[in-house]
This record gives sequence, C-alpha cells and structure tokens, in this order.
Amino acid sequence: MAKLYFYYASMNAGKSSNLLQAAFNYGERGMKVMLWTAAIDDRSLFGAIASRIGLNADAHRFHDATNIFAAVQQAHEENELACVMIDEAQFLSEDQVWQCARLADEAGIAVLCYGLRTDFQGNLFPGSAKLLGIADSLVELKAVCECGRKATMNLRIDSSGKAIAAGEQTEIGGNESYIAMCRKHFMERLNG
Ligand SMILES: [Zn+2]
Repeated sequence: MAKLYFYYASMNAGKSSNLLQAAFNYGERGMKVMLWTAAIDDRSLFGAIASRIGLNADAHRFHDATNIFAAVQQAHEENELACVMIDEAQFLSEDQVWQCARLADEAGIAVLCYGLRTDFQGNLFPGSAKLLGIADSLVELKAVCECGRKATMNLRIDSSGKAIAAGEQTEIGGNESYIAMCRKHFMERLNG
C-alpha cells in the first residue's frame, strides 16, 4: 500500500538535499517522480528546488488554490509515477494534505512531504500540523545547534543579527533569515 510520509525538521537540516537525493535514486532506476514546491519560495536561481550543497531540480509550484490530487492524477495517467515529492510542505493547506492522503489511498501513489515542523515562534504550520496528524510515517531530519544538540527551533533574525520575537508566520518578500537552534539557546537568544 502506498503511504504518505512527512519528513520534518528545523531549518538547515538538509530537507531539500534529502528530497533531491531520493528523487535521483528513483530516476536512476527508471522510475518517474513528480516534484512540487511552494510558489512562495523564490530563493533559487537554478531550479525550483535547490539545496545548500548544490543539488537542484525544477518542480511544479503549488499555491493555495492548486488541486494537487487532480494535477498528480492527470500526470500519472499520462506517464506512470512512482511517487510524488513535495518540498516546503509546511505551506500546504489542510485540504491539500488530505489530497496527498487520497493520492496514497486511492491512486496508489506514495507521497513524500518535506517541511518545517514549526515557525519562528514554535507554532506548527497548518500543513505541518495536518501532516503530523494524518501521515502514515513521520521521519525527523536532524539539524544541529551551535552547542551540538539537536536543533528543533528556528530563530528569526533581522539584518543585524538581532532575534525577532513577533511578526507574521511567513514574511512575504521579507529579508529575514533563520538560525536553527536547540530550545534552550533559542530562548536565551530571544530573551537576551
Ligand atoms: Zn544549543
């Protein structure tokens, strides 16, 4: 039976490189993979999905209104898919996560979602909350804090490196950046 997977982590845990490596492995065996990423993410100059270690690939983009179930099913009818991989899966709507579940259950296509667990305030993203709720398999990818412990939090910093405590969950067009940290050091930076 096809499964819905959620590979979750903080920033800089290698989610995109993990995804691209898995896609490469499928391709090597002649199996077709459909890649997706959020329309919101325009970081990459080289492809829709790019990893910090230099791998990149083109991908379909989803936005709020995208029917992922219909788009994948159509592609699957034209050219049989081994699986679907979705980067930035924290930006999926709850409906879209259910669509991913239906792809596994009804169309028999495995769906591998890669995304952040929480935002810069430690709140679950809606897509991540639903994936944590209904995915068949949860896999944590680990990033490391500067102290060597597992980083589970994402500290948002401004251009001067100062910690930011308040703001929108996703600052569209913002130049903010993030540091993956353990909870103890996240709190120290935020209160320091
Ligand atoms: Zn730490």
